[in-house]
Amino acid sequence: MPSKKKQRAKERKTKKDVEKKAAAAHMKIVESLGPMLQQSLPPDVYRAMMESTAKSSLEEQKQNLIQLKEQEKVVRAFDKKVMKLEFSQVLPPKPVHEDCAICFCRIPSRLSASIFLPCCGKIVCRSCQGQLMGWNDWKGPITPAFGLDDKMYEQKCSFCRQKLILLPRSSDDRSYVRELLEKKVNVGNSRAMLDLAKIYHEGEQISPREADDGETTDIIDVDRAVALYHQAAEECGNGNAFWKLAQFAFEENKVTEYLNCLQNSVEHGCSEAIDKMADLSYRKGMVHYSITLYKYLASIGYGMETPKHLGILHANGILSKRDYDESMQAYEAAKDELFSEDRAAMAAIGGSAGDDRFRTHADDFM
Ligand SMILES: [Zn+2]
Ligand SMILES: [Zn+2]
Repeated sequence: MPSKKKQRAKERKTKKDVEKKAAAAHMKIVESLGPMLQQSLPPDVYRAMMESTAKSSLEEQKQNLIQLKEQEKVVRAFDKKVMKLEFSQVLPPKPVHEDCAICFCRIPSRLSASIFLPCCGKIVCRSCQGQLMGWNDWKGPITPAFGLDDKMYEQKCSFCRQKLILLPRSSDDRSYVRELLEKKVNVGNSRAMLDLAKIYHEGEQISPREADDGETTDIIDVDRAVALYHQAAEECGNGNAFWKLAQFAFEENKVTEYLNCLQNSVEHGCSEAIDKMADLSYRKGMVHYSITLYKYLASIGYGMETPKHLGILHANGILSKRDYDESMQAYEAAKDELFSEDRAAMAAIGGSAGDDRFRTHADDFM
């Protein structure tokens, strides 16, 4: 019988191997895409396209970096004001573990790591969403037909057999999705409130096909979005909604309101808010509170950065060796529950909408 420690080490090695394999598969796709374009485009068009892609991505990266640095300065200045206020040491609730309705692997706590099916209200992980949309093509060569399959946009839901729009192609598709979400909002589903609020806040996603048709519908309605976030937060106690309201308060430079929303968000178990609170309280000198929050994040396997924070606390002599080891074990165990080969493959090919530079692709899948 191998010891538990050896077993874990073996599992971790397998995990690394899978990740390596997935990355290699991804490179293969990227490499195969070049020749495909080269074959189907006139040489000068191909060359110009490659040159402009290289230039624009470099320029884009530079711009992004400048923007991030600017943002960071604003955040730091705002944080300073927040840290002058008095913190109540609110604690997150016992974590609720939820499994993906399709693969039965535990759903990661980050909201962006799962999607809500507006037809029946099931929640599936991002990796399974990719599979539904036929993105498992990434395991094989990309063909010119990629993206033309209707399945990618619309299909029958595997659970309720209603029409499921994965990527709206027309304004009819969009109103269909909104109507379904409205129905769920009316019966008090807070996840539907978040999704509907996002649509009203950010507008709708445009599929490549629709963009070709030149059709755009502007349905942005910030007041409605804010009202929905308030409803999800105050009526349903949704931590992610409080976190969203904290972000609105940040944008409006309302320090007290920000802290209030942040604390509510922590109390209702939003992992991003807990991460932020752990960081703020550490910098404010409330190290024991910070340790409690980081330990909580470790226990749910949150983020790729949690081990680093625990390591710093340990190196500074604030977290004992025993506590550090225990937290790391809990983190690894939780990560194992979040791991699946499909998720690792998806993380390797990216496909996430990262909104800060500390976030890794894997955070959206595991
Ligand atoms: Zn899944
Ligand atoms: Zn359904």
